[in-house]
Parts: sequence; structure tokens; C-alpha cells
Amino acid sequence: MDKATIRDFANVKGKRVFLRSDLNVSQDKDGNITDDTRIRASLDTIRYLVDKGARVILCSHLGRPKTKADTQYTLKPVHERLCELLPNVKVLMAPDCIGSEVEKMVSELGDGQILLLENIRFYAEEPENDPAFAKKLSQLADYYVNDAFGVSHRAHASLEGITKYLPSVAGFLMEKEIKILGEAISNPRRPLTVIIGGKKVSDKIGVIDGLLKVANTILIGGGLGYTFAKAAGGEVGDSIVDEESIEYCKQVVKEAKKLGVTLVTSLDSVIADGFSNDAHTMIVQTTKIPAGWEGLDIGEKTIDEFKKHIAKSGTIIWCGPLGVFEMEKFANGTKQIANAILESGAVTIIGGGDSVAAVTKFGLASKFTLVSTGGGASLEFLEGKKFASVEALLGKNVKIS
Ligand code: ADP
Ligand code: MG
Repeated sequence: MDKATIRDFANVKGKRVFLRSDLNVSQDKDGNITDDTRIRASLDTIRYLVDKGARVILCSHLGRPKTKADTQYTLKPVHERLCELLPNVKVLMAPDCIGSEVEKMVSELGDGQILLLENIRFYAEEPENDPAFAKKLSQLADYYVNDAFGVSHRAHASLEGITKYLPSVAGFLMEKEIKILGEAISNPRRPLTVIIGGKKVSDKIGVIDGLLKVANTILIGGGLGYTFAKAAGGEVGDSIVDEESIEYCKQVVKEAKKLGVTLVTSLDSVIADGFSNDAHTMIVQTTKIPAGWEGLDIGEKTIDEFKKHIAKSGTIIWCGPLGVFEMEKFANGTKQIANAILESGAVTIIGGGDSVAAVTKFGLASKFTLVSTGGGASLEFLEGKKFASVEALLGKNVKIS
């Protein structure tokens, strides 16, 4: 990673640090946090700054509110969880993100204390990257830290705009994600195996295009497998198919051949006579699915074939579940491949929100080299996109005082 980090602060004791994290947790309909992974993943940076005696102004978005009137998107539940996770730290909550009351709370903040701002997306100026709004945010602090990898593909005011007004560096989570994802596509331990699953081809076109250029092997399963099977002239019954991506799939097959990339698409499938855990199932060849049946998981032959490639990999990037893992009956492929990836001894990277949910559900998340907190951001990063919010951070080897 060629960016300065919080380690490059000469002395942050007593300094006001605007820390943009991604505390966008999932919640149930009553607002209870159902998965606090993103809060936990942000703690290393928070603790470091607190231990150094910084006055931390912590900022995040939560969901997609339009205005302050969307009060169900308050960060109060996040505040409560932070207080639980940091029992020895004073964590205050501001009623807003800008304005005189917030300024007063910042001025009263002690060394090693945290002030959590209210949801930054309560302001339309945030996604609009409004310069005046970014400047107001910057005036709360002496330094800026971006640790919000999960939204770093968005050039929003608290991510990009603010860097114009403050010395800006990366936090530890940002550093980790960029380092591991970056190395995987620029200088991977080979062979590099990419596993693509998920629902739709159209969601993964960017990733497939980006990774085709660097991968040695690409394994395709999940819902995507059926568009590829149809492109190859197969019968896929009622399986999910992206009609408008059929031509694209044919191109991918050609391109892979040209580049010398081994491309393996799903060979057999667990098919069902309904989208339900109670459906009847059988295993057939992926290109021979009868009408009235749909493929909802990869079959044993596919699993064995994928495992062979996985076992000899140096790096594995996995984006997209290989079946409808949310239903126990169709979770087998995703589960077996997750375990095979872990047994491979390779550098193992999970990107894509639902893939992360899958390995979390199986209790395996902590065992991978990187389970990206990024969802969409990790996919765009793997496409090879540059993020304005990250580019704007100071370069490595500066001492910031
Ligand atoms: P990610 O978020 O990891 O990038 P996607 O959003 O592309 O993954 O897809 C995840 C969804 O794909 C899951 O909800 C899963 O149920 C669904 N899926 C996987 N295989 C199939 C299939 N054969 N048919 C329909 N949906 C599938
Ligand atoms: Mg998804």
C-alpha cells in the first residue's frame, strides 16, 4: 500500500482526528444489530488512536436515509455497541454531524475520548460530495483518517471531499484490505484461482473482466452457471438465466481460451422442482435440466472438479455463493468449497456481501486471509478500479506533525 497511515502521525495526543469508518451494520426491523462485524473490524484503528491520546471524531453512514426525518437510521444502536466493546473508553454520541452543538461537544472532548457523529447520510450533501459540507466537516478536526474501505468506492463528502482540507491518511482496516486485495491482483502467489458464483452474470461482468486478465483458473458456479450453460447450447429448465448476458458468456469462454486461462463451469447441478427447502431434488448434468426444474446448487462432480483446482492454488479469490446457501438443502456446494479453500493453504480472499454472509453463517469467517468488509467496494477493487477517496490520501513515508 503506497499511502500514509495512522502510524505516520508524529504525535496525535490532544489532536482532533476525524475518523471515517464503515459502521454500516445490518439490523432487524426493530433496529437491533444482527451483525456487528463492521464495528469489530473498525476497532483496531479506533483503539490505536484512543491509546495515543487522540480526540476521535468518529463518523459513519448507516443504510440509505434521504433526510434527518428517516430517524430509523440513527447511529444510536452503533453507539450502544461501541460502548459495550470499549468499556474503558468514554464514547459520546452527537445529535448531528455538523452545527454548533457538535462543535461544542468536540471542543469539550478529552484526550483518548470518542465522539460518534450522527448518520452522515442524513445530509444529501454527503453523497453529493458537496464542497461546503465537506469543509464544515473538516473544520471539526486537525487530521482525517479513512478506514471505511466498504464505502471507499464512493466519492462522498466524508470520504473524498474532506481530504481537500485536512492531512489525510489510511486506517488499519483500509490498509489491510488494500494490501491483500491489491497483492492478489497485482502480484499473487500463483496459481491464482478465481471462484465466481452468485445470482446474476450482469452483477459480475466487471469482476470477470478484471480477473480474466490476471487469473490462471476461473471456476464458475451458482446462478451464473446457468447462463454459461445456456450460452454453450444447454437446456437449463427453469434455472435463473440472464438472457442479455448470453453473448457475453460466449465472449468470456473465447477470451479465456485466448489468454490461456482455465475456465471451468458447473458440470452438474442439484435441481429442484420448486424454490423451497421442501422441494424434490435430483442431480443432473447442468446442460440437461428438464423443464419445471431449476438448478439451486452445484453437484458432486462439480465440487470434485473445483476441489482439484483449489488444492493446487497459491491464491484464491472467491466472489459469490455457489448455490442458494440460505436454504440448508442447497448449501452443500458452498459449504464444501469453503472448506476446500481453507484446506488449500493458499492466500484466501472472500469478496462480495453474500459470500461473506455465507462463510459467516458457517462459522468459518475468521479462518480466511481476508474476508472483505467491502461487498461492492471489494468487487470494484478487484475489477481494477481506482478509488478517488483512496487516491486522495497522502503518500507513504511522510511524517505528519
Ligand atoms: P455476492 O454478494 O457474494 O457477490 P451475489 O449477490 O451475486 O453474491 O449472489 C448471492 C445470491 O445468489 C445468494 O442469495 C444466493 O442465494 C444466490 N444464488 C446462488 N446460486 C443460485 C442459484 N443456482 N439460483 C438462484 N440463486 C442463486
Ligand atoms: Mg450480493
